[in-house]
Amino acid sequence: AKTRPRQCVCLLSLFPGLLSSLSFLVPLMTNVDFFSAQVPLGDEVEGMNILGLVVFAIVFGIALRKLGPEGENLIKFFNSFNEATMVLVAWIMWYAPLGIMFLVAGKIVEMEDVVVLFTSLGKYICCCILGHFIHGFILLPVIYFIFTRKNPYRFLWGIFTALATAFGTSSSSATLPLMMKCVEENNGVSKHISRFILPIGATVNMDGAALFQCVAAVFIAQLNNVPLNFIQVITILVTATASSVGAAGIPAGGVLTLAIILEAIGLPTNDISLILAVDWLVDRTCTVLNVEGDAFGAGLLQVYTERTMGKTEAEELMEIKTEALGPSKVPGEEEGSPLIKRDGPILLAAVGSCEKESVM
Ligand code: ASP
Repeated sequence: AKTRPRQCVCLLSLFPGLLSSLSFLVPLMTNVDFFSAQVPLGDEVEGMNILGLVVFAIVFGIALRKLGPEGENLIKFFNSFNEATMVLVAWIMWYAPLGIMFLVAGKIVEMEDVVVLFTSLGKYICCCILGHFIHGFILLPVIYFIFTRKNPYRFLWGIFTALATAFGTSSSSATLPLMMKCVEENNGVSKHISRFILPIGATVNMDGAALFQCVAAVFIAQLNNVPLNFIQVITILVTATASSVGAAGIPAGGVLTLAIILEAIGLPTNDISLILAVDWLVDRTCTVLNVEGDAFGAGLLQVYTERTMGKTEAEELMEIKTEALGPSKVPGEEEGSPLIKRDGPILLAAVGSCEKESVM
């Protein structure tokens, strides 16, 4: 009786051994490895958590909006902070050419083969311009045609002067007054649509910026021989969308927010100097695409409004709204954030803001 438990223990101790010796048959028969599993381990990454900051900023903005009047002071604080930063950036931009010259010179000295650098920069420029061309002359017109069944190239011809201005000034904000005039007078978009959509689009909707920022991030990764995995590519897409929204409608506005993307995927931000050196060219097609997207948006909304309400009804509604609003600019009214609630209709704020932009 004493030997039985000992035998059992021996058999049990043999059991794992038997299992492990037979385990080599399982993958052969089933192609599945049951005995090893990959457990992902979390790891601390050096540097700032930019993606976390972006998500926090978005959620914080929503929370402030929800607070209503109590959150207004903080919104005004952040607006002033933003304006002050813009003034600082404007000062810095004055000595930017000198700074860029030294940064690029440093990069060239570092490179073993300068020809490689210039070839890849040329490829980067071509890739951006080709991307902008495909998006602006094929993709956006096709989307417009699918939804409106109208000739998109006739629409583009109507805003040609504004597109040329965007190309010349590299600034969506500077193009805004002319774009409003073009879409209203040449493409028949009503004022209440253009004056609501275009100012928002000029600051928020930047297809060209998002496109060139993705190309720039991949270019810098390749320049530093950093292979990008799937997650990093998705991170580039998400952060490029967010940072293009945050980019100002001024020359090189998108290059400044490119740092967010590079930080998010752990690439060196000082390589931005290379992008900045050629941005005088890329930014032109980028801005054309940025304003073109806004104009197509306004055109689409116009067609949609006409379809749902009927053309005459839409025109009547517009007249009624204009009369009800009275003078579009209330004297002494303070320019504010769209986050701050106003007593009057939101349209009033939009019209007032775009008139202020036109003055600029
Ligand atoms: N210059 C562009 C614009 O004004 C912004 C950018 O740099 O992407 O729309």
